[in-house]
Amino acid sequence: MLRLEGVCAGYSVLPVLNDVSLNVEAGQFVAIVGPNGAGKTTLFKTISGIVRPSAGAIHFEGVDLLGIPAAARPHLGIAHVPEGRQVFPSLSVMENLEMGAFTEAGRRAWKENIGRIFTLLPVLAERRHQFAGTLSGGEQQMLAIGRGLASAPKLLMLDEPSMGLAPAIADFIFEKLIEIRTQTRLTIVLVEQRVAEALESADHGYVLEAGRVVLEGNKETLRADDRVRQAYLGM
Ligand code: ATP
Repeated sequence: MLRLEGVCAGYSVLPVLNDVSLNVEAGQFVAIVGPNGAGKTTLFKTISGIVRPSAGAIHFEGVDLLGIPAAARPHLGIAHVPEGRQVFPSLSVMENLEMGAFTEAGRRAWKENIGRIFTLLPVLAERRHQFAGTLSGGEQQMLAIGRGLASAPKLLMLDEPSMGLAPAIADFIFEKLIEIRTQTRLTIVLVEQRVAEALESADHGYVLEAGRVVLEGNKETLRADDRVRQAYLGM
């Protein structure tokens, strides 16, 4: 569904991604893990079109994404839930969700989609009239995920949904992701620093270090890898 081949990208003079290739199959849950500054967010920004690669190719469902402007990519079915949640604080929960339904597919599916989002994330239904800025961090993260789902995507890209959350709340978010995956069969790509939880939730993983993919495999392979165990799982 999503294929990156030899992607190099960065910011003006700073190269970040170096020859990154990855492949995400429809229905797969893929985790991309790695330390601070490895380029995980830059990778997502390159897929969503905020950062333009200097080399390489990106295809989504066979379409050359580099020929598609960033603003048009959500309409292909790519939802990017950004790092730091970035909900609209002075809009209500419901208004935030409506903003998420800006794609043609999101508008068309709105009625059934909002019911599904409220079933998956009931706290959003309870708080639908509350200003998003007054939600707790965990609730804001659920809203950011709900807003992504409101676009009726085929691919949901989640940038560090556990960031800044207490461990119990982060665990709850990971459980929700597994539930969303099971209920919707959506393709999910998750970027995370919480490696143990991310590899627990996903089927397949990539380890990104200093802008390069240094390891990839299914979750059992990665969790059994000595380097992953030492560097990321504290074993
Ligand atoms: P983290 O988990 O800390 O968010 P990350 O793996 O997502 O890290 P990126 O945010 O992709 O890493 O950053 C990779 C490198 O690019 C870092 O050195 C960062 O300082 C740099 N960088 C990120 N955004 C910009 C920008 N807009 N302009 C210049 N450099 C940037």
